[in-house]
Amino acid sequence: MTQKAPAVPGPVTMEKLVSLAKRRGFVFPSSEIYGGLGSTWDYGPLGVLMKNNVKAAWWRAMVQERDDIVGLDAAILMHPRVWEASGHVAGFADPLVDCKACKQRFREDHLWVGWAEKEGTVVTAAGSTEIEVDPVLEKKLEKALKRTKVAYAKAPLPKWGSDKVTTLPCPACDTVGSLTPPRMFNLMFKTFVGPVEEDASKAYLRPETAQGIFVNFENVQTTTRKKLPFGIAQMGKAFRNEITTGNFVFRCREFEQMELEFFVKPGEDDRWFEHWVAARVEFWKSVGIRPESLKVRAHAKDELSHYSKGTSDIEFQFAWGWGELEGVANRADFDLRQHSQFSGKSIKYFDEAANESVIPYVIEPSSGVDRGFLALLTDAYREEPDKDEIRVVLKLHPAIAPIKVAVLPLSKKEPLAKVAQEIYATLRKRWFVQYDDAQSIGRRYRRQDEIGTPLCVTVDFQTLEDQQVTVRDRDSMAQVRLPIAGLASALSERLGF
Ligand code: ATP
Repeated sequence: MTQKAPAVPGPVTMEKLVSLAKRRGFVFPSSEIYGGLGSTWDYGPLGVLMKNNVKAAWWRAMVQERDDIVGLDAAILMHPRVWEASGHVAGFADPLVDCKACKQRFREDHLWVGWAEKEGTVVTAAGSTEIEVDPVLEKKLEKALKRTKVAYAKAPLPKWGSDKVTTLPCPACDTVGSLTPPRMFNLMFKTFVGPVEEDASKAYLRPETAQGIFVNFENVQTTTRKKLPFGIAQMGKAFRNEITTGNFVFRCREFEQMELEFFVKPGEDDRWFEHWVAARVEFWKSVGIRPESLKVRAHAKDELSHYSKGTSDIEFQFAWGWGELEGVANRADFDLRQHSQFSGKSIKYFDEAANESVIPYVIEPSSGVDRGFLALLTDAYREEPDKDEIRVVLKLHPAIAPIKVAVLPLSKKEPLAKVAQEIYATLRKRWFVQYDDAQSIGRRYRRQDEIGTPLCVTVDFQTLEDQQVTVRDRDSMAQVRLPIAGLASALSERLGF
């Protein structure tokens, strides 16, 4: 008899995450029956629960539990002058390279170039940066380089200078000399307000939520009578016509942001900047991300936006490498000053103690819901040996897990079903709970492990006699018997809420 070799747990890869997300209803490609739409995604039944949990955790930490922050929900469509003042009309652009042969477009700073030294062969790959590597294109580059059987090197294109671009082979179709010089391309989606499509009615879908906060600074400050330092928090959709897309929900054309603008007295900004970098790292840890999966990277001087006094990215170790999860920036008084100038309305704060008006400085922690979702999914994904098989388990923090408890009757039939249904009805008043009576109990546990359900409640024949159920813990797989009376409180204690 041949014995099956035990399966070996492997590292987390994007293929595994994307496949799990699709198979279990977390994330689907948008408009899939029409072939999908580039870099837009739909969150399925479990995905929407998990995404809502990410947002709820952020809102709780930033607004509910703080005296010095209030919330806002501004419109996606804003006056077009907003984007002139913010600098997005003039500056929110990426250098793009077109291929005249195959009509594909690439971001210049995402082109990688390899060359085989002896034969002088040049190969190009698109879609990669130091922090964001598209594995398919990387592989293509490496394969092409291997063919030449000589040593090779590769470097991001900007180090070579833009004029080289036109001499390179196209990363998609390999035609040499078909690439155009880089041109600037604005990332904002345009639309028209009202029935006539003319320049006067042009509007943009917001590329960030922050500007809705700046233009409401006075409305919020006067209605809440908040004194500096105080913040305004907002979450919502943002849109960017990203050119180099990919890596699942890491970079989408439609995504959600969670942004805080924290207004402080000039001179107190450096201290608050440090505070927010540390606080935001703590937040991601508090929702379950392991400390070793996070790092803070301060921007070098030449990387800073023109308005920024300092920026630090909170990076997460995604399956392909480190990437930005959140940015914390000291934007000084740039935004309020710009909106004062463009709107003609002076936006200031009157400091009663000092008897003077000041333009507050602002510290901005800005993060993406979708990137947070992907980071949490990646960090939670584990494969563990289980006899000869592999147990796939999402070790999500209970606050983030889409389903908190599963109720599993050992038999589909009465009288077990009735008891289990009663327990289910009681628990679902407090949490999202799943009821599953299909297939063996082992398979049902695996199904719940794979979607990160922290607790399973099993109703068995013993239950009919002792009015107790088995509660199984996802991570330790330990099982305890607990009475049905007071079950919700006992589970609540284990979940932490
Ligand atoms: P990147 O350099 O990766 O393009 P960015 O520096 O342009 O990001 P910001 O403008 O600082 O990003 O936006 C703040 C946050 O919004 C980012 O940290 C990220 O979490 C999220 N975000 C930005 N662009 C996207 C996108 N296209 N898809 C998903 N999330 C995004």
